[in-house]
Amino acid sequence: MKKIIFYMLSLVLIVGCQKHRQVPSPKMVDRSKNLIVVDAGHGGHDTGAISGGRREKDLVLQIATRLKNQLLSEGYRVYLTRGDDRFLKLSQRTRIADKLNAKVFVSIHANAIANRNRFNAVEGIETYFLQKTRDARSQRIATRENEAVLQGADALSKNVIIDSVLNGPKIIQSHKLAIDVQNSVMQHLRQKYFDARNGGVRPAPFYVLVGASRPSILVEVGYITNDKERQRLFSQDYQTRIAKGISRGIGRYIDNRKRELGF
Ligand SMILES: [Zn+2]
Repeated sequence: MKKIIFYMLSLVLIVGCQKHRQVPSPKMVDRSKNLIVVDAGHGGHDTGAISGGRREKDLVLQIATRLKNQLLSEGYRVYLTRGDDRFLKLSQRTRIADKLNAKVFVSIHANAIANRNRFNAVEGIETYFLQKTRDARSQRIATRENEAVLQGADALSKNVIIDSVLNGPKIIQSHKLAIDVQNSVMQHLRQKYFDARNGGVRPAPFYVLVGASRPSILVEVGYITNDKERQRLFSQDYQTRIAKGISRGIGRYIDNRKRELGF
């Protein structure tokens, strides 16, 4: 009798495992036609924000590298704009996405505020898509992020940039992509960090998103000026969750888009 119960139990276990195996994993879907350009913000003489002895350029390189590896493990092709500590011009970051006919362009940044008294009062994850906005807060963040990029002496004049923002055909798709990525990142973070703050999806005139004629977003992964968030941001666990969240969000967007287009 004991033997029979043992066999029955084994059978239940085996059937259970097979059932589990039937759930399609990201690897089972052929994603190799989808090239994702991952842009690590700043680099070289452009450190980005600095706080608590930590630099934005180092943080975003770590997260972008994890995101690259996560996307590769899910079957995508990936191009990382910088794999080490170097400065890149605006054109080098976005034009490559067009040249390679990338499906999606995602730029990784970390946020900061100027008011020292509020350092530990402001935190959270925000995802931006390119659009002109009157929102002063979004404009302030964009101005800070744009500063160094525009120092790169690009041929693109400010007027050309603004024109292409206004005429950008990919705003709706970028908005959808931003929503999928933001939701997914929050979902992955809150499995462990229940108090992770959702800063939401926002439009902003980030120049790094201009010129890429494809769905393009900029993820501000958190505030480097906030002690608690900075500590989390530099931990392997938090970075892995962000990378996984962005990757799965991109996957959700691409799959929904396929359904919309009917293939
Ligand atoms: Zn930045």
